[in-house]
Amino acid sequence: MKNYAKELDKIIEERKKDGENERKTLLLHSCCAPCSSYVMEYLREYFDITVFYYNPNITEDAEYRRRVEEQKRLIKVYNRQVETGMFENMHSTFKARKIGVIEGDYEPECFYHMAKGLERCPEGGERCLRCYELRLCKTAQVAAQRSFDYFTTTLTISPMKNAEKLNEIGDRMGKEYEVSFLPSDFKKRDGYKRSIELSGQFELYRQNYCGCIYSKVERSG
Ligand code: SF4
Repeated sequence: MKNYAKELDKIIEERKKDGENERKTLLLHSCCAPCSSYVMEYLREYFDITVFYYNPNITEDAEYRRRVEEQKRLIKVYNRQVETGMFENMHSTFKARKIGVIEGDYEPECFYHMAKGLERCPEGGERCLRCYELRLCKTAQVAAQRSFDYFTTTLTISPMKNAEKLNEIGDRMGKEYEVSFLPSDFKKRDGYKRSIELSGQFELYRQNYCGCIYSKVERSG
């Protein structure tokens, strides 16, 4: 398997060389606030980030609302760090910028349509690969429509997710929509551990199942 964390390092080194005047924009698909906590902390020095919350896989309405509100709350907390100058005290390479947010349509019917016939697949199987694709395809479309320089997803931070497949799908979607996909394996270098620390620090809601009703049933045994 390719070392996607190293591929991202190379791009970040280019960003550092280009400096403050050549900042690039990044549309960051986020699955939830806890997973995005580390990714935003890590990347916001090098990119102007807009979070794209598009998760039709969260099949229960109340759960969807809870997760999206938590995402918006965390972005506000991070942006307050920028407003108060706290970010500059923690990081000095680049000037801090605020993080934007786009909430995509909530369309669980698209997920159910995609999952037809795959309801019994275990987590990590074919249904999940198509679920990654559903979300990355929309992210690439929006990134292209709005002329972002890059797009990527927080999903590679999860030890439960297949980083290789996520990167393959992201790369393919990037080629299809002609926008650069930022490779990643955010769980590396203690990224996952840091996301748990940040979740504790900001008292984030951490769900105990992935998102769809099938994963909820699977987790509840
Ligand atoms: S378990 Fe998670 S990744 Fe897999 S289909 Fe359900 S919501 Fe999508």
